[in-house]
Amino acid sequence: MTKRKLTLTIEGEIIDAAKEKAKKSGVSLSKIVENALRYYAKPTVYCFKCGYKFSVDEAEICPRCGWYKCPRCGACACELGEEGAKVAFYMRKTLMEIFSSSDV
Ligand SMILES: [Zn+2]
Ligand SMILES: [Zn+2]
Repeated sequence: MTKRKLTLTIEGEIIDAAKEKAKKSGVSLSKIVENALRYYAKPTVYCFKCGYKFSVDEAEICPRCGWYKCPRCGACACELGEEGAKVAFYMRKTLMEIFSSSDV
């Protein structure tokens, strides 16, 4: 894949904090942004039941719970107990906040 430059405008304090953390972890900000944008453009998730990694594009949405159904085992949030559903809900809420989208 060809690398291209991308100019972004981000709050200064966030840039400083992210640069410092990235430096400590030995990764580049470009790599972090690249991974985030790849996920945003084409989200891939792991099935919480069987661990299969799939693209949400190829998954059906369960009409009952609104979650993607795993293409391999068919699991969706309906299979989770109350505690599990809560964990999944807040994990997903975190992703939705990061990516400003419910399509994650
Ligand atoms: Zn599965
Ligand atoms: Zn469901």
